[in-house]
Amino acid sequence: MKKNLETICIHGGWKAGKGEPQQLPIYQSTTFRYETSDQMAKLFDLEENGYFYTRLANPTNDAVAKKIAALEGGIGAVLTSSGQAANFYAIFNICQAGDHFITSNNIYGGTFNLFGVTLKKLGIECTFIDQDWDDERIEAEFRPNTKCFFGETISNPGGRVFDIERFAKMAHKHGVPLIVDNTFATPINCRPFEWGADIVTHSTTKYMDGHASQVGGCVVDSGNFDWESQHDKFPCLTEPDESYHGLTYTTAFGNMSYITKMVVQLMRDLGSIPAPQNSFLLNIGLETLALRMRQHCANAQKVAEWLEKNEKVGWVNYATLPSSPDYALAQKYLPNGACGVIAFGLNGSREEAIRFMDNLDFISIVTHVADARTCVLHPASHTHRQLSEEQLREAGISPDLVRLSVGIENVDDIIADLQQAMDKM
Ligand code: PLP
Repeated sequence: MKKNLETICIHGGWKAGKGEPQQLPIYQSTTFRYETSDQMAKLFDLEENGYFYTRLANPTNDAVAKKIAALEGGIGAVLTSSGQAANFYAIFNICQAGDHFITSNNIYGGTFNLFGVTLKKLGIECTFIDQDWDDERIEAEFRPNTKCFFGETISNPGGRVFDIERFAKMAHKHGVPLIVDNTFATPINCRPFEWGADIVTHSTTKYMDGHASQVGGCVVDSGNFDWESQHDKFPCLTEPDESYHGLTYTTAFGNMSYITKMVVQLMRDLGSIPAPQNSFLLNIGLETLALRMRQHCANAQKVAEWLEKNEKVGWVNYATLPSSPDYALAQKYLPNGACGVIAFGLNGSREEAIRFMDNLDFISIVTHVADARTCVLHPASHTHRQLSEEQLREAGISPDLVRLSVGIENVDDIIADLQQAMDKM
């Protein structure tokens, strides 16, 4: 039976059998027992499915991955130990030394570093583009060794909206998949596969968990990208893998080849798995994701409108405000709301912005974003402090940008706290 998102949030991934626990059990075991050596050998050769070691697969982790895959409308998913690991795996699964990819520059600072610094050390080069450039200028950046295109549905912290359909068409024209980090929108507000994206990633640390209780990530495969049609571009999937006795992923696993390779090769060799306990916590968060997202968006809309009218506020960017440069994109991709995160700048000096933040009462200064509690951060001083002034500008972050992550408390209390802190500026 086809189910709606709210129902998948509750029932996806795990169905208790007769006499089994109603809540997803935590399989806190490194390993799984077999009766004969041959049974185990077949698992190692990928001839049979089954659990044998939690680094490769674990029933608790798998159940939660299945729920997220169902929410996104994908055919398979892998949980990772963090959102950073998810974005690294998504790229590294199809890129190796000598390859290149293209990314929007409106992305999270950690991803910016990962792509621009760490992947470079592995010989993988990337070009940062401005998503406001015209098609011709962006397409000029594709090279014969370009392997994918990357962007965030709603960027952290700038709140820019990624034109998924436009960039999916562009990526496909050049024979590569589009990878979208859907952390801020969540599948409740946007399902990138419906607009042509091929792979979706998440920092599940954020709204999916929703309670700041675990760090995690996820990669979801739509199963739609035809790797064989680009046989020579993706030999990692279309040519034999020596580490599995010459098995070829596309031949053995068809449209599951990308996500299967991620498990059996990257997890085997790099091992960034979540603890089953963390997946259990994530699953509890997912049960209320749809409810919470509605409240985050309703609260953030009211707060953004209030900020916009406030004389101490210089500018506000929130995608569903008519004043946002991305209002039209938000109407298209986020008709039910964007997320709880608002970017704004205060009139006055940087010191005054800091005084404002220091005077907040229950709204806390934390690195984290996108959970039940309203919180605030100054990216230029905190999350993005490794970036130069030029890189900050390129990433769409002005030095006065305050990132306000609106939670699900009573909105009148949120506004009252902001007001009293502004009064002290
Ligand atoms: N992607 C986005 C959009 C993020 O906001 C973050 C973290 O803030 C990450 C990825 C990295 O996730 P994590 O902190 O779980 O490693």
